[in-house]
Amino acid sequence: MKSFLLPCSCSHVIPITSGKAGGFVACPACGREVAVPKLRDFSRLKSVEEGQSRSGMGWRLAHACMLAGGVATVLAWSGAALLAVPQQATITSEMIRANVAAASDKQIFQAWKELSQSGVARPPLPDEKRLQQRSSFWQGVSRALLVIGTLGAVMGLVGAGMWATARPQRR
Ligand SMILES: [Zn+2]
Repeated sequence: MKSFLLPCSCSHVIPITSGKAGGFVACPACGREVAVPKLRDFSRLKSVEEGQSRSGMGWRLAHACMLAGGVATVLAWSGAALLAVPQQATITSEMIRANVAAASDKQIFQAWKELSQSGVARPPLPDEKRLQQRSSFWQGVSRALLVIGTLGAVMGLVGAGMWATARPQRR
């Protein structure tokens, strides 16, 4: 609502609304009753523009948008970049050789027996399955972070656009 500034004889300025037209308001500074002019004389009073506070709010919103969007973008994209760094191959030939060397004859015999039974088309072992699931999980997370980062960037741009248009005009 548009409010007007009614000056009191004590030099305090009382904010009033058009609802008070023709009545009296008590000055919060000196306590004097001040006559409020009729509605048609309100144009002589200084007014606090409704639009000003609204655009001020839009401006703050735009700023918040820009800030949140920017932060989301930086966080999400750096997270995605960290995840996208190729993870070291979990199983290397050195590891297999070391494992085989450390394994007892009985274990090797057991492994050979399992391999010969299941053949080449054996189903993935639980460990391999877990590894596959884990890497696809992190790929999913990385993709989600990229999407979040993009949304954040869009939000920041929208905020910047709003900021450019809703910036309060100083008169
Ligand atoms: Zn006063």
